[in-house]
Amino acid sequence: MSEATIIDGKATAASVTDEISARATRLVEETGVKPGLAVVLVGEDPASQVYVRNKGRMAEKCGFHSVQHNLPADAAEIDILSLVTQLNNDPEIHGILVQLPLPAHIDEGKVLQLIKPEKDVDGFHPVNVGLLGAGQTEKALVPCTPAGAVLLAKRAAGGDLAGLNAVIVGRSNIVGKPVAQLLLQENCTVTISHSRTRDLQEVVKGADLLIAAVGRPQMITGDWIKEGAIIIDVGINRIPAPEKGEGKTRLVGDVDFDTAKTVAKAITPVPGGVGPMTIAMLMANTLTAARRQQNLAEEP
Ligand code: NDP
Repeated sequence: MSEATIIDGKATAASVTDEISARATRLVEETGVKPGLAVVLVGEDPASQVYVRNKGRMAEKCGFHSVQHNLPADAAEIDILSLVTQLNNDPEIHGILVQLPLPAHIDEGKVLQLIKPEKDVDGFHPVNVGLLGAGQTEKALVPCTPAGAVLLAKRAAGGDLAGLNAVIVGRSNIVGKPVAQLLLQENCTVTISHSRTRDLQEVVKGADLLIAAVGRPQMITGDWIKEGAIIIDVGINRIPAPEKGEGKTRLVGDVDFDTAKTVAKAITPVPGGVGPMTIAMLMANTLTAARRQQNLAEEP
């Protein structure tokens, strides 16, 4: 078997955001409405600061109205809740994203549930979780990383995932479970595995489509993988990289890329696979939210 096709998440994300930017321009021309995204950051976590900055930049690149609210790490819960209420009522804001994790003294669930479901571009509000579970994706806002992972899988499969045995490793609310719902919608036969799964290697071996969302560096090696499988690696793990110099690190996925690529049909790299898709799907959700709030039909 020849080596796997490397699925280029960066290029796919760029084509998605180009399309969104063109659609946003049309929306402004036709209705005068600019999609508006508000990102709320509480505290000074360096990784969160980078994520928030990148989201804001991409929103501007797509021609959106983009605002960022920074609150100190010791902000009172009531201040965060008031800000969310203010954004809920702001007609120029169609999407609200509260960057997670929030500091420990804040009730994350309370904040996320206050966001109006139609502005919940992260897709974590129970209403959106329920709509996704009920298969009503045309009404839901779907979490960004799962949506990006499934889009990459679909493109790698030539547009149709129906009938594939899909195995997801990981059952978190933010990745594993929503990916499972989306793949059911795509007519896959879905298995969700986790840390208590027996004979995980055997389960993975049955996958025509493998989605790894574990958070364990290079756990899944080539000998676990069915020949010709499509592999979408959601994992992002930092490991030591002494070959780059003392104290240096590098990012790897949950799948051992070098051994897996000799068996698989297609595989996402880390970095440059699912990662870039998350922001692209956030832009897609913001545009969708803006259109729905104007009672405009969905675009295909
Ligand atoms: P969680 O830690 O919330 O969930 C991990 C899941 O993996 C759990 O369901 C856990 O099982 C399962 N698991 C852990 N160890 C094993 C094992 N040895 N065998 C089988 N299953 C195991 O992680 P997330 O879902 O939040 O994230 C997963 C990965 O995806 C991380 O590397 C994260 O960094 C990355 N990620 C990437 C994003 C992006 O690309 N933008 C966004 C979000 C996440 P159990 O439930 O039994 O404990």
